[in-house]
Amino acid sequence: MSVTVVGSLNEDVLVAVDRLPGRGETVIGRSAATAPGGKGANQAAAAGELGPGVHMVGRVGEDPAGDRQLAALAGSRVNVSRVLRTRGVPTGTATIPVEQGSGENLIVVVPGANGALVPADADVESVRRATVLLLQLEVPMTTVTAAAAAARGTVVLTPAPPQPLPAELLERVDVLVPNEHELAQLAGAGPGERSPAELVDLARSVASCAVVVTLGARGALVVPSDGEPLLQTPPPVTPVDTTGAGDCFCGALAQALAADPDLPSAVRFAVTAAALSTTGPGARGALPDAGAVAALLP
Ligand code: ATP
Repeated sequence: MSVTVVGSLNEDVLVAVDRLPGRGETVIGRSAATAPGGKGANQAAAAGELGPGVHMVGRVGEDPAGDRQLAALAGSRVNVSRVLRTRGVPTGTATIPVEQGSGENLIVVVPGANGALVPADADVESVRRATVLLLQLEVPMTTVTAAAAAARGTVVLTPAPPQPLPAELLERVDVLVPNEHELAQLAGAGPGERSPAELVDLARSVASCAVVVTLGARGALVVPSDGEPLLQTPPPVTPVDTTGAGDCFCGALAQALAADPDLPSAVRFAVTAAALSTTGPGARGALPDAGAVAALLP
């Protein structure tokens, strides 16, 4: 039983500012701190905290930021033997000024070594043998598509950042996990809150596989490829920081599906894990272990 993630590793550079700068403007930050990030690595870390057998496939630079990303993932019990070091290209970064008070932010991502992850990098045993393969779109689409094609297990895709999905990729995906905003973009629909019935229609217009739409504090909507949709609400928690809740959700969903392919019960587990992850700071500051999730499961 294993979960393999093919995706991005970034170093987040978080800068606290009194207000976000406008175009051409300089503002003085209060403090700066680095934190491990990248959608791929965040999902792998969440899965690793919840159970064994998690592998990461990706690329970092031959730089201290790369060392820090590997150490952080290994600290979450993720096997990093297929995270390759790339000469002459820096580790990916996400620079994020965060406005104090409102919590609003801007994000500038420089993919760096993530952009050098080629299809051949994904043609490895840990992808072929994975019980669940977890994918996002922060590495080249050709590599994501190659990974899905190589997989024999269940393929779970977070379509973020949202972009058109090649038919060749979509036909290999078993579970698509967009948030509301990503689902609307994939469907070519406008923004705005929608009823569960409207979301079911959008999900079915985008993909014929199972779709799980994450809905923030409202939980997640399961739209199976056949059968009745189901809304899974989160347990009561007091959120402190919802950054990375979506990544925790996907890592937890993958761990649960690796143990038992029943989608509604995997979503119940993921909703509970993601709710717990909002009770501490940052994307990886409050990743729960399996015991904490089990204690809160409805
Ligand atoms: P992010 O970009 O912050 O990682 P996202 O937009 O991809 O998040 P969301 O739909 O906001 O994803 O959240 C993912 C899951 O996290 C939700 O389905 C829910 O289970 C849980 N979650 C998020 N916010 C809350 C909250 N305020 N209270 C409880 N659970 C939450």
